[in-house]
Amino acid sequence: MDPSIFHPDFKPRPFWWEAVEIGDEEQAEPPSRADVVIVGGGLTGLNCAIELGRGGAKAVVLEAEELGFGASTRNGGGISGGNSVGKGLSGSKARQSPAEEQDWLREIIGGASEGLSYIEALIQREDIACHYERTGRFVGAWAPKHYEGMAGKLDALNRYGEADAYMLPRERQREEMASDFYRGGMVVNRTGKLHPALYHRGLMDAARRHGAMLVGHTRAGALTRTAGGWRVETSRGAIEANEVVIATNGYTGDLTPDLKRRIIPVASHIIATEEIEPDLARSLIPKGRTLADSCRILCYYRLSHDNRRVIFGGRPRFTQVPPETSAPLLHGMMLARWPQLKGVRVTHAWTGNLAFAFDYLPHMGVTPKGLHYAMGCNGSGVAILSWLGAEVGRKILGKSNRAPVFDGRDFPTRAFYTGKPWVLPLVGNWYRFRDWLDRRAA
Ligand SMILES: Cc1cc2nc3c(=O)[nH]c(=O)nc-3n(C[C@H](O)[C@H](O)[C@H](O)COP(=O)(O)OP(=O)(O)OC[C@H]3O[C@@H](n4cnc5c(N)ncnc54)[C@H](O)[C@@H]3O)c2cc1C
Repeated sequence: MDPSIFHPDFKPRPFWWEAVEIGDEEQAEPPSRADVVIVGGGLTGLNCAIELGRGGAKAVVLEAEELGFGASTRNGGGISGGNSVGKGLSGSKARQSPAEEQDWLREIIGGASEGLSYIEALIQREDIACHYERTGRFVGAWAPKHYEGMAGKLDALNRYGEADAYMLPRERQREEMASDFYRGGMVVNRTGKLHPALYHRGLMDAARRHGAMLVGHTRAGALTRTAGGWRVETSRGAIEANEVVIATNGYTGDLTPDLKRRIIPVASHIIATEEIEPDLARSLIPKGRTLADSCRILCYYRLSHDNRRVIFGGRPRFTQVPPETSAPLLHGMMLARWPQLKGVRVTHAWTGNLAFAFDYLPHMGVTPKGLHYAMGCNGSGVAILSWLGAEVGRKILGKSNRAPVFDGRDFPTRAFYTGKPWVLPLVGNWYRFRDWLDRRAA
């Protein structure tokens, strides 16, 4: 570990928490009855609660830790449109006839793009001050064959997701970032960015305004069927409810073993740098877009909401490691892309859990036992899980005009998988090797 990369004021916690003190809320007592109990106090659970409240139902959101503990206040704040499903597009139907492939792309990209429309309308309707901007994203090609792969998806993204995307050859890459690191890439205009902790706090305020009760530090325990619905045991008493929603994504645990075995929890890590000179900051990403790359050990990065720091995220390890371990790895990846940041120190480093599904798609539905759920963000959940959380609420209210394409799909698992992904470090090494090969071949 190189100690010189750490600023003297280094904090192993999210930079976003400087704007919102997570856990400063007064703790509400859980009630003994509610229309709906929502397990998980992140953006999925809160959007569900808002929608239920708008429809006149009384929701109680249970969060095992502080409200805002999970990925919802730890993410990079990149907001995807139809491009959020990425690898999910290579599903089995994509390899059938050309007509079936087009139907598949229309369905999945079109469905995913609804997340962005939803979140933009929500932020406006609920007046959430979270520095949301539709900035667009540049996805850098790690190798020429990745550039070709992206170019092959361009037409479908524009046609079915209205992505307003175009390919940018390597000679023009400096229009988007002060680096020649990539082999060109794709610009996707229909994407944005926000401040995750302010978005989450705005959702909490909106949920309360719509009548929801938010209860932190209260873990949902056993779930038992009753004549009227459910009895939810919690660490602070039992709650009777008509319906239960599971909104635990990368933190899905033994409460719902059937869902746990459909989710692969993968760690993602981020650093924030100290403030840098405004001219240098502006030069790094002239159009203020979010940046990401196409390799398997991917990085995603941007400037902070005040354009003074670099927020640099990635998956140099697929499992939880201390920020003191992930920070030097991320710092090295950042310097590979921007050598001009040599000497810029890290003030914050943190980690959180994503939830991958085996088919790389988001999922909502009802388990055979009757529990509602929305989860499986595959690294891009801010818009899409906000939307699916709200859709679960609408479904419970009986107000859905049209089921989202991700509702009720087969939610695959694998034989003998119980939710403990012990192979992740091996997968990480395999991916690293394949990235190395792709780059070397170039
Ligand atoms: C480092 C990182 C970077 C990311 N970057 C991006 C990005 O740039 N763009 C993007 O779109 N997405 C990103 N994501 C993904 C995005 O953050 C998630 O998709 C989204 O926040 C999921 O929200 P959620 O409400 O479903 O889950 P979470 O916010 O994770 O909340 C789930 C909560 O459930 C609680 N819980 C679990 N079990 C129980 C129980 N039994 N009782 C009560 N509570 C329980 C947990 O404590 C947790 O707080 C990132 C994620 C991480 C970790």
